[in-house]
Amino acid sequence: MEHMISEAPSPFGPSRSKSRLPVLILGLLTSALGLTAVWWLGQSTEFNIMLFYYAYVFPLGALIVGAVCGSGYGIGSYFTGVRISKSLLLLVVILQITVYFLAQYLEYLYIIEQARQSQGRSIDIAFFEYFDYATRQFSFQKEHSNDYGDPMGSWGYAFRVLEILGFVFGGLIAPLALRSKSYCDQCQVYMKKKKLVLLPASVPFRKIKRKDTEGKQAYEKEMQTAFEHALEQLESLRASLEAGKLAGLMDFQKQYSPDSKAISKLPVRIALSLDYCPICSKGILVAKQVSGQGNQVKTIDLGNSPFAASAVKEFLAVNK
Ligand SMILES: [Zn+2]
Repeated sequence: MEHMISEAPSPFGPSRSKSRLPVLILGLLTSALGLTAVWWLGQSTEFNIMLFYYAYVFPLGALIVGAVCGSGYGIGSYFTGVRISKSLLLLVVILQITVYFLAQYLEYLYIIEQARQSQGRSIDIAFFEYFDYATRQFSFQKEHSNDYGDPMGSWGYAFRVLEILGFVFGGLIAPLALRSKSYCDQCQVYMKKKKLVLLPASVPFRKIKRKDTEGKQAYEKEMQTAFEHALEQLESLRASLEAGKLAGLMDFQKQYSPDSKAISKLPVRIALSLDYCPICSKGILVAKQVSGQGNQVKTIDLGNSPFAASAVKEFLAVNK
């Protein structure tokens, strides 16, 4: 009797999506930890980092706290391979707002409990009355002093909105950083990255006297030729890697190490890297044009091309 297996494609698509639950749980966990730390800091030093503003209008403190709280969504996505979709981002926004108000509510419960204990009777104030009062009481600390200015009144709401925006956007930092990573749809995992080569795409920088128009033209011509040559090298590499041939890449690796100091000093170079799926070895050749030095570095995307899975396996066997 012959063994039979069903290989019919599932009517629900190639593979079912992974559950988002672990991502959400981890995000809520880092949120709880982050806000507990804020609370602890506030209690022990009277410094509320959530109300720390840079240049009076940029809610830096809320942004940092939001980033810490939202880091769990990013970590969870990375390790489970659950892709950060637009709907997941929306969910993170909703959860950040919910967590923010939950923290406000817990603070409210704490404060009325404190007041009840010190006054010996319960205080009759609803959460929204408390929230409204606390918002209107916002004031900035005076420079070089422990004194505070006058309460802002309704202007406090503008800062409340800034604080919430800072907290929400902070929460999106980690998930958004993951969205830019390559992803294997089939295996539902993030791809790994490996630097391949740094191609020289210009001649070295040289000083030319301002009046030397001929020298300038010659230099520009050399730059142009070097750049075109690099693009030709890139195109031939793309073709061979798509066809699963590694020889060309091996040659380049010998001449153009990705860590070469000399090449990285050139005015223009092309950085090539491999993004590959650790499960099915699907590969992508990523090409970026890099120019400038230090904090003046500019990167231009030169596009991705396929890197045959067979070649990825062969490559990783040699380049562990
Ligand atoms: Zn894969």
